[in-house]
Amino acid sequence: MRLVLLGAPGAGKGTQAKKIIEKNPIPQISTGDLLRAAVAAGTALGKEAKSYMDKGELVPDSVVLGMVEERLKQDDCKKGYILDGFPRNTKQAEALDNMLGSLNMSLTAALSVDVQFDLLMKRLTGRRTCKSCGQMFNIYSNAPKKDGACDKCGGELFQRDDDREETIKKRLEVYNAQTAPLIDYYGKKNILKSVDGGTGSIDEIFVKVCNALGI
Ligand code: AMP
Repeated sequence: MRLVLLGAPGAGKGTQAKKIIEKNPIPQISTGDLLRAAVAAGTALGKEAKSYMDKGELVPDSVVLGMVEERLKQDDCKKGYILDGFPRNTKQAEALDNMLGSLNMSLTAALSVDVQFDLLMKRLTGRRTCKSCGQMFNIYSNAPKKDGACDKCGGELFQRDDDREETIKKRLEVYNAQTAPLIDYYGKKNILKSVDGGTGSIDEIFVKVCNALGI
């Protein structure tokens, strides 16, 4: 399965991607995670990316495209993958089509996880991630048993720099202007599947995801 996950920040793409790969072990390629790793490692690419990420803007296509292409060429992608947070605009989607055309591996589906605007705000401000294992929580809807600590490994929970209120508004604007048009883009290619990611528990939403993808 070669899958693109679409959805606004806070729609639960990353959470559903993690559940898909538990069932179907293929790499989850999150450009946000790759960029955050570059920022943490202090690489030149990370330094360039950070200024955009902190403002809630998209990192330039030239930076992201090279990073994705390099990742897709790795051996573990031969059995499929989930692209999470990429593409983010039409130019990236077209570049992905070209890349996959030359690698002879077209997309199986683009899955859009749809969530209402006011709910996104709450999900993003409440989001906390484990520093050690990456497990995600939400202080409103999926709180850890112990404040500030991961249920799975006991690691320290943190709030992403770009999950603060000022940046969130900008990220949602960027999504509406640049990423939402991709729903039409993949609709026209007849590979779009949509699920309502705003109602029900994570597991209930996952049932809808599995039905939509036939997995
Ligand atoms: P995410 O974790 O997917 O919400 O991404 C966090 C931030 O990383 C975004 O707000 C962007 O600044 C940057 N980013 C992630 N993926 C992309 C992408 N495909 N293109 C450009 N910027 C990206």
